[in-house]
Amino acid sequence: MTAPVTLQFLGASGTVTGSKYLVEAGERRLLVDAGMYQGAKELRLRNREPFPDASTLDLVVVTHAHADHTSYLPALVNQGFSGPIFCTQGTARLAEIVLRDSAYLQELETENAIRGGYSKHAHPEPLYTKADAEWTIELFQTVEFDTDVALGHGVVARWTRAGHILASASVNVTIDGVAVLFSGDLGRESHPVVRHRDTPPGARWVLCESTYGDREHEDPAVAHVAMADAITRTVARGGSVVIPAFAIDRTEAVLHALVALQREGRIPEVPVLVDGPMSMRALDVYRDMPEELAEGVTVEDFLGLRRLEEVRTSRQSRKARDEKGSRIIISSSGMLEGGRVLSWLQKLLPDEKNCVVIVGYQGEGTRGRDIIEGARHVKINGRHVPVRAEIVDENGFSAHAGASELVSWVAALDPRPETVFLVHGEPGSAAALEERIETELGITTVVARHGEKVLLSEPVDEDLEDSEE
Ligand SMILES: [Zn+2]
Repeated sequence: MTAPVTLQFLGASGTVTGSKYLVEAGERRLLVDAGMYQGAKELRLRNREPFPDASTLDLVVVTHAHADHTSYLPALVNQGFSGPIFCTQGTARLAEIVLRDSAYLQELETENAIRGGYSKHAHPEPLYTKADAEWTIELFQTVEFDTDVALGHGVVARWTRAGHILASASVNVTIDGVAVLFSGDLGRESHPVVRHRDTPPGARWVLCESTYGDREHEDPAVAHVAMADAITRTVARGGSVVIPAFAIDRTEAVLHALVALQREGRIPEVPVLVDGPMSMRALDVYRDMPEELAEGVTVEDFLGLRRLEEVRTSRQSRKARDEKGSRIIISSSGMLEGGRVLSWLQKLLPDEKNCVVIVGYQGEGTRGRDIIEGARHVKINGRHVPVRAEIVDENGFSAHAGASELVSWVAALDPRPETVFLVHGEPGSAAALEERIETELGITTVVARHGEKVLLSEPVDEDLEDSEE
């Protein structure tokens, strides 16, 4: 008799970060995605809870490189996991960047806690170290898209493009004949830079992300009007434009838009700087993998700016900040919570000639959210910096499918799912999507609850004990 196959939601359930889904069949255990929680403190504290028996995990499957799907991998290794981590080649390359950055931040935070004496622990330790991140990178095994791959332990998986960031995927996992499809993060039906999403083979059980389950994206007839006009105005009055952007994918999407605007003559030709080590490393991956770019898109379409400057080192960055003249600066972090963008803001925010163009979602409690909501000053490096620069919200960028694009992804699946579990969404978004899929597609749809375990194979004797926390 084969063991029952179960699925447990260990993260990104009722929230958007910390993706971790555990599939078990008897002694065999595999994890799909291993992200850390970000944002609110009560969520981040969960990163410190030990993973249940990390050393007995057989393997990990990764959908894409974003930190909320990968940055817990070194914590698993730190807790004794030593099996293979399967992902696409582009994901492996981007994840290396993410994991090294994350380990650096873990160590830095711990050093600061020791120095500042503000840790509750006598000897605070990082969740993992740079060495753990290097061990983790050694465990990556890359797979091809659109091919059934035998992962060992009776597991077969297939990666299908998800069109969210470079080389991102939905993954269909089969164990003992039981198939479950993980959407990963789904892109819009088309992405400006990377290959568009495809329809994966369906499965009886489907996990679907629900980030924008309650919202639709607008597609205006003319793209990026707010950003183009802001740049034109700012340059005309002799100011500079800062565009805070997530290091992976948003930087490339913004560059792609700037190239198009320049070609159309809709913005003046001023130097465009990409400032940040992580942004530059990610840009290198996009540059090196033309096979992952959308049909008809070439590297020139996002790097073909006439005056593009790549700022890698902090010395180059300091020098760039001292230079005069109007410029466009693309720098991370996207929500103004760290990174070199803060030094730029410190310099440029106090002058009303300048402009900040917000191109991404700004989480509650972030500096980005504060300035969008009209804060008169923001605290940067211990100082209150006055916000006199113009603040512009450009909402024409999104790497996540809107509600109808999530419904259409589910609708296209063959075979049709019996149950859709909604993950990776705030409660309101997930609830709205639940209702839409139920009413429009007539498929049983469940908002996953943290810690909940469900049975995927046929029931044998009695119902599975509810093992919710
Ligand atoms: Zn993502």
